[in-house]
Amino acid sequence: MKKMYPVTHLVCTLVCTAMLACAPAVFASGGGSDASAVPVKSAEATLKAAVSGNDQFTAHNDSHHFDAFQAGQTPTLTVVTCSDSRVHTHLFGMEPDNNIFVIRNIGNQIKNSEGSVDYGVRHLPSKILLIMGHSSCGAIKAAMGDYSGETTGIKGELDTLKPVIAAGDKTGDMNSRWNKNVERNVDYQVKAALDLYKEKIQASELTVVGAVYDFNDLYGKGRGKLVITNINGETTPSKIMTHPVLKELNRSEIVNHVGSLAPAL
Ligand SMILES: [Zn+2]
Repeated sequence: MKKMYPVTHLVCTLVCTAMLACAPAVFASGGGSDASAVPVKSAEATLKAAVSGNDQFTAHNDSHHFDAFQAGQTPTLTVVTCSDSRVHTHLFGMEPDNNIFVIRNIGNQIKNSEGSVDYGVRHLPSKILLIMGHSSCGAIKAAMGDYSGETTGIKGELDTLKPVIAAGDKTGDMNSRWNKNVERNVDYQVKAALDLYKEKIQASELTVVGAVYDFNDLYGKGRGKLVITNINGETTPSKIMTHPVLKELNRSEIVNHVGSLAPAL
Protein backbone atom coordinates (compact mmCIF):
# COMPACT_ATOMS: atom_id res chain seq x y z
CA MET A 1 0.00 0.00 0.00
CA LYS A 2 1.45 3.30 -1.00
CA LYS A 3 1.33 6.13 1.46
CA MET A 4 -0.76 9.20 0.69
CA TYR A 5 0.12 11.35 3.64
CA PRO A 6 2.26 13.93 1.80
CA VAL A 7 -0.58 14.73 -0.56
CA THR A 8 -3.18 14.76 2.18
CA HIS A 9 -0.99 17.16 4.10
CA LEU A 10 -0.74 19.46 1.12
CA VAL A 11 -4.47 19.42 0.53
CA CYS A 12 -4.99 20.10 4.23
CA THR A 13 -2.62 23.03 3.99
CA LEU A 14 -4.53 24.38 1.00
CA VAL A 15 -7.93 24.15 2.66
CA CYS A 16 -6.63 25.38 5.97
CA THR A 17 -5.01 28.38 4.35
CA ALA A 18 -8.17 29.26 2.51
CA MET A 19 -10.28 28.97 5.63
CA LEU A 20 -7.93 31.03 7.76
CA ALA A 21 -7.81 33.74 5.15
CA CYS A 22 -11.57 34.21 5.17
CA ALA A 23 -12.52 33.09 8.67
CA PRO A 24 -14.89 35.61 10.24
CA ALA A 25 -14.42 36.53 13.88
CA VAL A 26 -17.26 34.29 14.99
CA PHE A 27 -15.38 31.22 13.74
CA ALA A 28 -11.81 32.41 14.20
CA SER A 29 -11.41 31.15 17.76
CA GLY A 30 -12.52 27.61 16.86
CA GLY A 31 -9.49 25.59 17.87
CA GLY A 32 -8.28 27.80 20.63
CA SER A 33 -5.53 29.45 18.59
CA ASP A 34 -5.23 32.88 17.07
CA ALA A 35 -5.59 32.49 13.31
CA SER A 36 -3.66 35.71 12.69
CA ALA A 37 -0.57 34.13 14.26
CA VAL A 38 -0.46 31.39 11.62
CA PRO A 39 1.57 32.20 8.47
CA VAL A 40 -0.72 32.30 5.45
CA LYS A 41 0.57 31.30 2.01
CA SER A 42 -0.06 33.38 -1.07
CA ALA A 43 -2.58 32.21 -3.68
CA GLU A 44 0.28 31.36 -6.07
CA ALA A 45 2.13 29.28 -3.49
CA THR A 46 -1.07 27.55 -2.45
CA LEU A 47 -1.99 26.48 -5.98
CA LYS A 48 1.61 25.45 -6.64
CA ALA A 49 1.47 23.24 -3.54
CA ALA A 50 -1.77 21.63 -4.73
CA VAL A 51 -0.51 20.91 -8.25
CA SER A 52 2.89 19.67 -7.09
CA GLY A 53 1.11 17.57 -4.51
CA ASN A 54 -1.00 15.99 -7.21
CA ASP A 55 2.19 15.11 -9.10
CA GLN A 56 3.46 13.39 -5.95
CA PHE A 57 0.16 11.56 -5.69
CA THR A 58 0.32 10.23 -9.25
CA ALA A 59 4.01 9.39 -8.80
CA HIS A 60 3.17 7.28 -5.76
CA ASN A 61 -0.02 5.81 -7.22
CA ASP A 62 0.49 4.48 -10.73
CA SER A 63 -2.34 3.66 -13.12
CA HIS A 64 -3.08 0.33 -11.38
CA HIS A 65 -4.08 2.17 -8.24
CA PHE A 66 -7.24 3.20 -10.07
CA ASP A 67 -8.04 -0.19 -11.60
CA ALA A 68 -10.44 -1.33 -8.88
CA PHE A 69 -12.80 1.60 -9.22
CA GLN A 70 -12.88 2.45 -12.92
CA ALA A 71 -16.48 1.32 -13.24
CA GLY A 72 -17.92 2.40 -9.90
CA GLN A 73 -17.40 2.74 -6.17
CA THR A 74 -17.92 0.23 -3.34
CA PRO A 75 -17.30 2.00 -0.02
CA THR A 76 -18.60 0.35 3.16
CA LEU A 77 -18.03 3.43 5.32
CA THR A 78 -20.05 6.62 4.91
CA VAL A 79 -18.81 9.51 7.02
CA VAL A 80 -20.64 12.72 7.84
CA THR A 81 -18.11 15.14 9.25
CA CYS A 82 -17.22 18.80 9.54
CA SER A 83 -15.51 20.82 6.81
CA ASP A 84 -12.87 21.91 9.34
CA SER A 85 -9.38 21.77 7.79
CA ARG A 86 -8.02 19.90 10.81
CA VAL A 87 -10.26 16.93 10.08
CA HIS A 88 -9.33 14.55 7.23
CA THR A 89 -9.74 10.91 6.31
CA HIS A 90 -6.08 10.18 7.00
CA LEU A 91 -7.09 10.00 10.65
CA PHE A 92 -8.46 6.53 9.88
CA GLY A 93 -5.05 5.35 8.67
CA MET A 94 -6.64 3.45 5.79
CA GLU A 95 -6.72 3.90 2.04
CA PRO A 96 -9.61 6.32 1.52
CA ASP A 97 -10.02 5.74 -2.24
CA ASN A 98 -13.14 3.67 -2.91
CA ASN A 99 -13.42 2.88 0.83
CA ILE A 100 -14.82 6.04 2.40
CA PHE A 101 -17.77 8.08 1.13
CA VAL A 102 -17.50 11.47 2.79
CA ILE A 103 -20.09 14.20 3.32
CA ARG A 104 -18.79 17.41 4.83
CA ASN A 105 -20.38 20.64 5.98
CA ILE A 106 -19.96 22.97 8.93
CA GLY A 107 -21.05 21.17 12.09
CA ASN A 108 -21.26 17.68 10.50
CA GLN A 109 -25.00 17.88 9.95
CA ILE A 110 -27.36 15.54 8.14
CA LYS A 111 -30.06 18.13 7.58
CA ASN A 112 -27.83 20.31 5.36
CA SER A 113 -26.73 17.40 3.17
CA GLU A 114 -29.52 14.85 3.51
CA GLY A 115 -29.46 13.83 -0.14
CA SER A 116 -25.74 13.12 -0.04
CA VAL A 117 -26.14 11.00 3.09
CA ASP A 118 -29.06 9.17 1.46
CA TYR A 119 -26.81 8.39 -1.49
CA GLY A 120 -24.11 6.90 0.70
CA VAL A 121 -26.57 4.82 2.70
CA ARG A 122 -29.06 3.79 0.03
CA HIS A 123 -27.05 3.62 -3.21
CA LEU A 124 -23.67 2.46 -1.93
CA PRO A 125 -22.87 -0.69 0.08
CA SER A 126 -22.31 1.26 3.33
CA LYS A 127 -22.39 -0.88 6.45
CA ILE A 128 -21.38 1.90 8.84
CA LEU A 129 -22.71 5.46 8.85
CA LEU A 130 -20.24 7.40 10.98
CA ILE A 131 -21.32 10.79 12.27
CA MET A 132 -18.05 12.38 13.31
CA GLY A 133 -17.81 15.65 15.22
CA HIS A 134 -14.50 17.05 16.37
CA SER A 135 -12.97 18.92 19.28
CA SER A 136 -12.83 22.71 18.95
CA CYS A 137 -15.62 22.77 16.35
CA GLY A 138 -16.03 26.41 15.36
CA ALA A 139 -19.53 25.79 14.01
CA ILE A 140 -20.75 24.62 17.40
CA LYS A 141 -19.13 27.57 19.12
CA ALA A 142 -20.62 29.97 16.60
CA ALA A 143 -24.08 28.44 17.06
CA MET A 144 -23.75 29.03 20.82
CA GLY A 145 -23.25 32.76 20.28
CA ASP A 146 -24.66 35.62 18.24
CA TYR A 147 -24.17 34.90 14.56
CA SER A 148 -26.76 37.38 13.28
CA GLY A 149 -24.07 39.27 11.36
CA GLU A 150 -23.12 36.24 9.27
CA THR A 151 -24.12 35.64 5.66
CA THR A 152 -27.51 34.17 4.81
CA GLY A 153 -25.80 30.91 3.86
CA ILE A 154 -23.86 30.57 7.09
CA LYS A 155 -26.86 31.56 9.21
CA GLY A 156 -28.92 28.91 7.43
CA GLU A 157 -26.38 26.21 8.26
CA LEU A 158 -26.05 27.32 11.89
CA ASP A 159 -29.79 27.64 12.50
CA THR A 160 -30.07 23.87 12.09
CA LEU A 161 -27.82 23.46 15.16
CA LYS A 162 -30.19 25.47 17.37
CA PRO A 163 -31.98 22.41 18.83
CA VAL A 164 -28.63 21.11 20.06
CA ILE A 165 -27.67 24.38 21.70
CA ALA A 166 -31.14 24.90 23.18
CA ALA A 167 -31.07 21.44 24.73
CA GLY A 168 -27.62 21.94 26.25
CA ASP A 169 -27.24 22.51 29.97
CA LYS A 170 -26.14 25.90 31.22
CA THR A 171 -23.66 24.61 33.79
CA GLY A 172 -19.90 24.97 33.63
CA ASP A 173 -17.79 27.45 31.75
CA MET A 174 -17.98 28.25 28.04
CA ASN A 175 -15.32 25.73 27.01
CA SER A 176 -16.94 22.94 29.01
CA ARG A 177 -20.34 23.61 27.41
CA TRP A 178 -18.73 23.89 23.98
CA ASN A 179 -17.03 20.52 24.31
CA LYS A 180 -20.22 18.87 25.54
CA ASN A 181 -22.27 20.44 22.76
CA VAL A 182 -19.93 18.93 20.17
CA GLU A 183 -20.85 15.51 21.52
CA ARG A 184 -24.52 16.42 21.88
CA ASN A 185 -24.58 17.47 18.25
CA VAL A 186 -23.24 14.05 17.31
CA ASP A 187 -26.06 12.48 19.33
CA TYR A 188 -28.57 14.77 17.62
CA GLN A 189 -27.32 13.81 14.16
CA VAL A 190 -27.33 10.11 15.08
CA LYS A 191 -30.95 10.48 16.15
CA ALA A 192 -31.79 12.02 12.78
CA ALA A 193 -30.07 9.10 11.03
CA LEU A 194 -31.97 6.56 13.14
CA ASP A 195 -35.21 8.11 11.94
CA LEU A 196 -34.14 8.29 8.29
CA TYR A 197 -32.72 4.77 8.03
CA LYS A 198 -34.82 2.93 10.60
CA GLU A 199 -35.62 -0.04 8.36
CA LYS A 200 -31.98 -0.63 7.40
CA ILE A 201 -30.88 -0.52 11.03
CA GLN A 202 -33.67 -2.89 12.11
CA ALA A 203 -32.63 -5.26 9.32
CA SER A 204 -29.01 -5.09 10.59
CA GLU A 205 -27.92 -3.74 7.22
CA LEU A 206 -26.62 -0.50 8.71
CA THR A 207 -25.08 0.61 12.01
CA VAL A 208 -24.99 4.30 12.91
CA VAL A 209 -21.92 5.24 14.91
CA GLY A 210 -21.36 8.62 16.55
CA ALA A 211 -17.86 9.75 17.39
CA VAL A 212 -15.70 12.74 18.18
CA TYR A 213 -12.29 13.20 16.56
CA ASP A 214 -10.40 14.62 19.51
CA PHE A 215 -7.26 16.47 18.47
CA ASN A 216 -7.25 18.41 21.75
CA ASP A 217 -7.18 15.36 24.06
CA LEU A 218 -10.40 16.44 25.79
CA TYR A 219 -11.31 12.81 26.46
CA GLY A 220 -7.92 11.92 27.96
CA LYS A 221 -7.15 9.30 25.32
CA GLY A 222 -4.43 11.25 23.52
CA ARG A 223 -4.46 13.83 20.73
CA GLY A 224 -5.92 12.59 17.47
CA LYS A 225 -8.01 9.75 18.88
CA LEU A 226 -11.37 8.84 17.41
CA VAL A 227 -13.69 8.52 20.42
CA ILE A 228 -16.91 6.56 19.88
CA THR A 229 -19.73 8.19 21.86
CA ASN A 230 -22.84 6.65 20.35
CA ILE A 231 -23.88 3.45 18.58
CA ASN A 232 -27.41 3.28 17.20
CA GLY A 233 -28.52 5.78 19.87
CA GLU A 234 -26.80 4.11 22.81
CA THR A 235 -24.67 6.73 24.59
CA THR A 236 -23.62 4.98 27.82
CA PRO A 237 -19.95 3.99 27.39
CA SER A 238 -20.27 0.71 29.31
CA LYS A 239 -23.16 -0.33 27.05
CA ILE A 240 -21.45 0.89 23.87
CA MET A 241 -18.46 -1.28 24.79
CA THR A 242 -20.51 -4.46 24.57
CA HIS A 243 -22.16 -3.67 21.24
CA PRO A 244 -21.72 -6.53 18.75
CA VAL A 245 -20.38 -4.21 16.06
CA LEU A 246 -17.22 -3.84 18.17
CA LYS A 247 -16.57 -7.58 18.35
CA GLU A 248 -13.45 -7.44 16.16
CA LEU A 249 -11.83 -4.83 18.42
CA ASN A 250 -9.71 -6.04 21.33
CA ARG A 251 -10.30 -4.85 24.88
CA SER A 252 -7.57 -2.23 24.71
CA GLU A 253 -8.95 -0.76 21.49
CA ILE A 254 -12.43 -0.59 22.99
CA VAL A 255 -11.24 1.15 26.17
CA ASN A 256 -9.11 3.59 24.19
CA HIS A 257 -11.85 4.48 21.71
CA VAL A 258 -15.12 4.62 23.67
CA GLY A 259 -15.95 7.55 25.92
CA SER A 260 -18.27 10.39 26.80
CA LEU A 261 -18.11 13.97 28.04
CA ALA A 262 -21.79 14.73 27.96
CA PRO A 263 -24.66 12.94 29.68
CA ALA A 264 -27.52 12.20 27.30
CA LEU A 265 -30.23 14.86 27.27
ZN1 LIG B 1 -16.25 21.80 12.97
